[in-house]
Formats: sequence, structure tokens, C-alpha cells
Amino acid sequence: MANRIKWWFPLAAAAVLAAAALAGRQADLAAEGAAQPPVLVIDAGHGGADGGAVAADGTLESEINLDIALRLEALARFWGLDPVMTRREESIGYPAGADTIAKKKVADQHARLALINGTPGAVLVSIHQNNYPAAAPRGIQVFYNASPGADAFAALAQENLTACLLPENRRVAAPADPGVFLMKRTACPAILAECGFLSNPGDLAKLRTPEYRTQLAVVLLGSYLQYIRGTIA
Ligand SMILES: [Zn+2]
Repeated sequence: MANRIKWWFPLAAAAVLAAAALAGRQADLAAEGAAQPPVLVIDAGHGGADGGAVAADGTLESEINLDIALRLEALARFWGLDPVMTRREESIGYPAGADTIAKKKVADQHARLALINGTPGAVLVSIHQNNYPAAAPRGIQVFYNASPGADAFAALAQENLTACLLPENRRVAAPADPGVFLMKRTACPAILAECGFLSNPGDLAKLRTPEYRTQLAVVLLGSYLQYIRGTIA
């Protein structure tokens, strides 16, 4: 129990400070008519006809992604932010012409892109889980798009996630694969967090627990607040 309290305290304190600084600075910016204040956009990867990766026990990546995203949204609202969600349910509505899974995925990705690129000041956090043919690979890795600042945001998130949740993690932040549509096409700073490997029994066991999903959300929010404080200070 003592460890759990110790674990939460510095993050909570840092988040309070960051949120207070953020609120004050955003008010200043609005008064000055200066640059658009940042808006956290949370993307739960996959969903609808696209379940993403599937674990050996049938756990769907899309459901884990959504649960972590909703926890991140709740925490963000607790700290006074008003995040934009690319989805808030497992089901997704598709246009009439999208009659194959491939067409549905394309329609969904374009809808998400329009939402993100249509949000002034957007900073995207996309949540995914990794998967590999072998069981051994594990750990957390954060990827970033080509927008200025995204690499620094990803490095910060990677450092925090490793320090708080997986000290033995040796993975480092890296540029997103050009084949990842949202990361390639989003105009704003964007990171994609691969929170763990569904193909690794240890990672999967943790990802199945509400506590670990909350911890991931806390560290992602703390990283966002730190990043935002640096960009608008
Ligand atoms: Zn994914």
C-alpha cells in the first residue's frame, strides 16, 4: 500500500502544478489573442469493424485502447481540460457505401483525420497495443509524427512511462511508420503509444487490469501537461 501511495503522489502533485500553470497561461493567451491554446485529442485506436490485434485469450486491442482512452478523458476533465475524443464507444457508424471491412476502416480513418485536423490547437495522443508473432517481445514504446514538437512530446512520454511503469524497459521513442495513416496525415503534434504487447503474457495480464490502465492514463496525462507547459510557457 505504501508503494502505491508513493507512486501516485509525485505525479498528482506535478499534475496539479502543471494544470494550474496551464490554466493561467491559457487565460493569458486568450486575453492576448495569441496562438491557439492546445487541445488534447484522444484517439482510441481501432474500433467498430476493426478490432485491431487479438490476444490469445480473445482480448481485443480496440477494447483495451478505448478503456484507457476513457480513463485518460476522465482524468483530463478532472484537471479542467476539455479533450476531444475520436470515439467513445466500441461501435462505429459508417457511411452507406462502406460495405466491406476495408472500406469501413478507410471511412473511419478519414473521419478521425477530419476531426483532428479540424480541431485548432490539437495535440493528438493515439492509444494502441502492440502484437508480435513470438511471445517474448514486451514493453511500452511511443511513436511520433513529423510535426514540430511531436518528437519531444514522445520522448517525454516514453521517459515517464518507462520510469513510472516499466523501469526495465529499453525501448525508446521513434518516428511512426509512414504506413500509419493518422500519424502520416495529421497536421498537429501527434504521438502514438503502444502500451504493451498483447502477444506477451506478462504485458497482457497487466493490460487486463483496470489499475494498470489507470496508471497508463495518469502517466500519459502527466506527460501531456508537462509537454504543454513547455510549449506555451
Ligand atoms: Zn493498433
